[in-house]
Amino acid sequence: MTQKKVAKSDSEWKSLLTPEEYHVTREKGTERAFTGAFWDSKEKGIYQCICCGSDLFSSDTKFDSGTGWPSFYTTIDKENIECNSDSSHGMNRVEVICSACGAHLGHMFNDGPKPTGLRYCINSASLKLKKVD
Ligand code: FE
Repeated sequence: MTQKKVAKSDSEWKSLLTPEEYHVTREKGTERAFTGAFWDSKEKGIYQCICCGSDLFSSDTKFDSGTGWPSFYTTIDKENIECNSDSSHGMNRVEVICSACGAHLGHMFNDGPKPTGLRYCINSASLKLKKVD
């Protein structure tokens, strides 16, 4: 694994995050559908990494996927996320992580809306919303 711009030990992350945030971002967990803070949110703003504050997704590209997780059809900047193949749980998926700190964010699928056809299915626990008016 390449060195991240933001590198902290597990115990440091644990002290900075709630147990659920830690589980999702540092242990590749998944929050239960329809339970997170943002799946149904229509607030305007920039969704940032809960761990390091990197800008990840804009509310302008959020859509209602019906999945119970916040879903976006594109990222703010491709440089800010990394996509890795993930064959865990008997599925072939594309894992999405934060480039800056390595946080697990969620998965990316090819069944999203136009214009990209992509669906970034992201855990609320990985995100914080910087609201804009
Ligand atoms: Fe991050």
